[in-house]
Amino acid sequence: VAKEQGDGFYHFYDSLIENQRAENMQLENDLKSALHGGQFTLYYQPKIDAGSGEVIGAEALIRWMHPDFGVVSPAKFIPLAENSGTILDIDEWVLREACRQNKSWQSQGLAKFPVAVNISARHFYQSNLIPMITRILNETGLAPECLVLEITEGTLIHNVEYGVQVMEDLRKMSIHISMDDFGTGYSSLSQLDRLPINEMKLDRSFIQGLVEDSKKSSIVRAVIELGHHMDLRVVAEGIESPDELRYLTELECDQFQGYYFSKPLPSQEFSSFVRQWDGSALIQIP
Ligand code: C2E
Ligand code: MG
Ligand code: MG
Ligand code: MG
Repeated sequence: VAKEQGDGFYHFYDSLIENQRAENMQLENDLKSALHGGQFTLYYQPKIDAGSGEVIGAEALIRWMHPDFGVVSPAKFIPLAENSGTILDIDEWVLREACRQNKSWQSQGLAKFPVAVNISARHFYQSNLIPMITRILNETGLAPECLVLEITEGTLIHNVEYGVQVMEDLRKMSIHISMDDFGTGYSSLSQLDRLPINEMKLDRSFIQGLVEDSKKSSIVRAVIELGHHMDLRVVAEGIESPDELRYLTELECDQFQGYYFSKPLPSQEFSSFVRQWDGSALIQIP
C-alpha cells in the first residue's frame, strides 16, 4: 500500500537523508582543518546574579565560521566532532582561549568573574584531562577558581565511579563544576547526592512556557528547592521574557542566563556589554 501511495514521498525522504549524510560527511572532513585554519571563535554569554543584578559569569560558546556555509551551530558540529575524535583538540582550544580571554579581562579590570567552558563527555574520560587543564591554567595565568566546567548528566552514564573521581580531583583544584541541561538527562536524581558539583543549570525546556504551565512551574519549583537543599547554586538558562525572569526570581533561582539579557557575543561586544550593564533589567522588570 505504501508503495502505491507514497513512493514519491519515500524517494524524496531518502534523498533528504542522503543530502544530510553527505553534508555531515563534508562537515566532519572540514572539521580537521578548521582548527588550524583559525575558523573557530568563541562567543560569550553573561550570567546574571539574582541578588545583585551584576554580571557574575560568562559562558564560552564556540562558533565555526565555515568558508562555504557561514556560521555552523555547535549543536550541529559538536556531535560530528565527537564521532571523529576532533572534539579533543577543539575542547582543548576552547579551554585555552576562554582562560586566556578571562585573564585578559581581569587584567583590564573588567572581569572578576569565572568563565564557564562546556566539556564533551568524551573528553571527560580522557586521562590527560586534568594535566591538560593544569597546563592551560599555568600557561594563561588564570586562577583555577575562575574556571567552571559545564558537563551534562549524560557524561556520567558511561562510568559514574570514574566520573565522580574526576570531579573530586577538579574540586580539589578549586575548579567548579556545573551540571548543564539539568533535568533532560538520565538517572540524575539517583546519583545527585554523590556528585561533587557546585551548580545546576535548569535546561531551557523547563523555562519555556513556565509561566503559563502550572505543572512545569511545580517541577521547576521542586528542582530549585532540591538544588538548594543540596547547597547547589541554581541557574536558569534560556530566559527570554520579563515574565520568566519575574517568576524565576520569585522561585529564588540564583542566577540567570538568556536572550532577555544578552545573546552570546563576540569578546569585544561582550566587554562593552559588561561595561554598560547596570543591572537595571533586574531592578525594574518591566
Ligand atoms: P549549552 O551549553 O546548554 O548552551 C546553551 C545554548 O542555548 C547555547 O546554544 C546558547 O546560545 C543558547 N541560548 C542561550 N540563551 C538562550 C535563549 O534565551 N533562547 C534560546 N533560544 N537559546 C539560548 P549554542 O551556542 O548553539 O550551543 C549549543 C550547545 O552546543 C551547547 O549547549 C553545548 O552543549 C554545545 N557547545 C557549545 N559550545 C561548546 C564548546 O565550546 N565545547 C563543547 N564541547 N560543546 C559546546
Ligand atoms: Mg553550557
Ligand atoms: Mg545548557
Ligand atoms: Mg544545551
